[in-house]
This record gives sequence, C-alpha cells and structure tokens, in this order.
Amino acid sequence: MNRHIQLGIKELGAYYRNGTLNPQVVTDFALDDAVKLKSLNAFIRLMPEKALHQAKESTFRFQEKKPLTPLDGVTIAIKDNFCTKDVQTTCASRMLEDFKPPYNATVCERLMEAGAVLIGKTNLDQFAMGSGTVDSIYGPTKNIWSENLTSDDGWRITGGSSGGSATAVASGICFAAIGSDTGGSTRNPASYCGVVGLKPTYGLVSRHGLIPLVNSMDVPGIFTRSVNDCALVLNAIAGPDSRDSTTIKTPFKPIELDLEEDIRNIRIGIPKEYHCPGLSQDVQETWIKIADMLEDGGSKVKQVSLPNTSASIFVYSILNQCEVSSNMARYDGIEFGLRADEESSTEQLYAKSRAEGFNTVVKTRILTGNFFLLRKNYEKYFEKALKVRRLIANDFDEVFKSTDVLLTPTTLSEAPLYKDFSSQSNRDQCAIQDFCTQPANMAGIPAISIPIRLSNNGMPISLQLMSRKLSESTLLKVAAWIEARVDFNCLGNKQIYEARK
Ligand code: GLN
Repeated sequence: MNRHIQLGIKELGAYYRNGTLNPQVVTDFALDDAVKLKSLNAFIRLMPEKALHQAKESTFRFQEKKPLTPLDGVTIAIKDNFCTKDVQTTCASRMLEDFKPPYNATVCERLMEAGAVLIGKTNLDQFAMGSGTVDSIYGPTKNIWSENLTSDDGWRITGGSSGGSATAVASGICFAAIGSDTGGSTRNPASYCGVVGLKPTYGLVSRHGLIPLVNSMDVPGIFTRSVNDCALVLNAIAGPDSRDSTTIKTPFKPIELDLEEDIRNIRIGIPKEYHCPGLSQDVQETWIKIADMLEDGGSKVKQVSLPNTSASIFVYSILNQCEVSSNMARYDGIEFGLRADEESSTEQLYAKSRAEGFNTVVKTRILTGNFFLLRKNYEKYFEKALKVRRLIANDFDEVFKSTDVLLTPTTLSEAPLYKDFSSQSNRDQCAIQDFCTQPANMAGIPAISIPIRLSNNGMPISLQLMSRKLSESTLLKVAAWIEARVDFNCLGNKQIYEARK
C-alpha cells in the first residue's frame, strides 16, 4: 500500500518539490485504486486520459521548479453534477446520461488552473436530491467504514447526496473532492464517512456549471482529510466570478491556518434546539465532550437559542420543491436531456421524455413544487415559507451578536445500515438526516463537519460548526483546533487497507 495517501496536501507538495514523489505516480495510483475499490461505487466515471495529461504537465512543472499553487499535482474528484467539458455529466440520472457539456464549471476550471489533477466524476443521488447516495441510476455508494462490506444487508450508507465524493476521499483514492451542498449534501456524507466537509458561505464559490437544484441555497462543497487541506482547496476555488451574478463581489482573502491556533477569544454557542428527537447517545456525548474541551481550551461556551429551528425542515422542503419544479422544466427532451422515441405531438414528446428521464423522487418534487406554486397556494405555502426562512436567518444574526461559532451535531447518529435507510421514503430520509444541516443553507452561512471519534460500531461520529457569513477563517481555525486535539485518523480503517489487496 502506498504510504503517500497518509500525507496532507502541503506535505505532498514538499515531496513533489524534492523529487521523492511525482504527480504521475500519484495519479496512476489514484486511478488504479479507484478500480480496485470499484465495489464501493464512488465513481460514475474516471477520466484517465485527461488526468494523466494533467499529471504529466504537473510533473514537468515540478521538474522545472515552477509549481503553480499548493494544489499542483493534487488528485481531486468531482461530483457528477458539475459540468466537465466534453465529459459526460449525468447527475446520476437517465435524463442526462449522455449529456456532454461544452464547458467546464468554474470550480473545475479554477482547480485545473491551480494545477490539480481531476481524476473522475463521483456518484450522487439523482440531481442531488437525497441524503443517502442510494438514488442513483448507477446504484448506491457503500460506506468504507461498514463492518461488513460484502454481505447484502451488512453495509452502511455514505450519506448524501455527495456520497461518491466523500468516499473518494475517505478511502484514500484522492486527496480532495468537490461536492455540492443545498441542505447538507456535503456535510452529511462527510459526517458519515469520517472526513472534513465544508459548505462555504452562499456566493463565496461560483455555482457556474453546477447543475442547479435550489439556486438560492446551492453551494459547491469541499471534502478533505484535514482542515488545512480544506483551506487550501477553498483558497483555489473561492472568489467572485463574472459568470455567476450571485457570487460575492469582494475579492477573497486566502486563508492561512496557524498550527498553534488560539481559541481563547472565540465565543462558542450551543443551540438548545439542536437537542432534537432522534439524537443518538453517541452523538450527544461527543457534543458535550467537545463543548467541554473548548471551554477548557479557554473559549467562552454558552447555551443559545435559535427558536425557529423546528420550522426549518418544512420551510426547506417547500422552497426546495418550488425551485426544483422550475429548474427541472428545462429538461424537455428538445433543448436538454433524454429524448424519448415519440412523434405523435410535442406535448407527448415532453411527457414521455420526462417520464422516462426522471426517477420517482424527482417527479414527486416537481409535482409538489407545482402544487405549492399554484395561484391559489402561492401565498399560503411559497410566500409563507420565504417569510419563515427570513426568521430562521434572523435567528442566526441575533445569535452571532454574542457568539462567533456554533457547535452542533452534523447528523443525528452514525451512518445507518442500507437496509434500514432504504426502507424509508426519500422525504423521511431527508427530514431525519438533514435536521442540523439545512438551517445553514437557508441562512447562507458557512458550516463545516469534522470527524471526532468512532462509535461502538466503529463508525465515524462528527460534529458541525457554523459561523457568520464570510467568516470561514474563524470557522476553520476552530475546526483545526478541535482536529488537533481529537486526533481522528480519516484513514484509520482496516477495510481501506484490506480492500486494496
Ligand atoms: N437531502 C436534501 C435534499 O434532498 C439536501 C440535498 C443537497 O444538499 N443536495 O434536498
């Protein structure tokens, strides 16, 4: 087993610079590894030719002693809802199974400009609608920490919808991966798979080329095995983009983390509403333990209240479905997406293409969204949900007057077994899994999930930190402080080593 996967991005760069390793070797390893670990189903598609070409150019730059950035030669995976030029971008759906975008998403473009090597496209729930990575036409992704990966009912879900990206990092295939986060799709799988998952401030990272789910909440997310690696990826992709009018116009100041972070001036809030039904003992204990640890470290920790939290799931669900119904209208079989074999009329062509191209989850959300948007319902549901969304955001504004960072669970428990999870409907799955993550999307604030320890079943337990808009540096600083003290090994799982044999 190649030891380099244990390295952080910074150390990898040092090895590249002194010639101990080169990007071609590391890329070969990632591609081989992705094939060896195929049964996890992390990738929908690898991009070997492009990746090897990028790796070759990167190797050359290191030989010339002219690396571009700290991400030069770093292997990265991309969720399959980000457009990649001339490479299928499917959203794990029949509808887009053959879609080859003519351009790259800004995130991909910036990673390549930074010298990163994009190795492939990862699995997700169809159109990123889900919390399990179980609703993909390519089948579910398996959690590498599962006690039993081979028996049909013994394996656990990765969480979702970016479960493929979380797995690409948790299994050591690559150093980082890009996901998307609309209601928790980066933090939720990061939590279940034991890696770091950042949802940046809305508008900090361009959505150009990210196939939209809920435009007012979507944001590209980052998976890595350490907080420092996460900062390096954020530094490469954040900042204004003329192709996305919702990006924040102020230039992004790159974040540099100090190894000796001091958290003594940081005020930490523990929102009492996050003590919600269904919170497992394991998570509850971990939450208390880390709050105590922060207090012992000199932070001021106090209980706070976000009174509208319980409305969050309902509001999210209404707004999600309204925006989904409008976003999905473009897939008509003529301009975009699968075209059914139907010639009787244009209406029939639309109907048949959409019937064949979408799964039940997508269809249900389109229908419900249209219902909420009917003239007679618009005020009652859509407008009301917008008003409550404002209240939820106001709760955060209020609380951030007297605190800097909030500490909460990310998910309510360890990753569920697939057999238990798949017996629930997609709606119930999201309502349970996203309780702690959705509020941040509604308020547009940054949030990060960090792994803390293993449960009795040997599954990762993680916590979430949230902070005010554009305060990623404070968020990452506190995350790095905790990370240094809990010493969780993202690759400390024997399956990772055994699966490669
Ligand atoms: N589980 C949520 C949903 O299905 C969130 C998905 C996401 O963040 N993309 O809507």
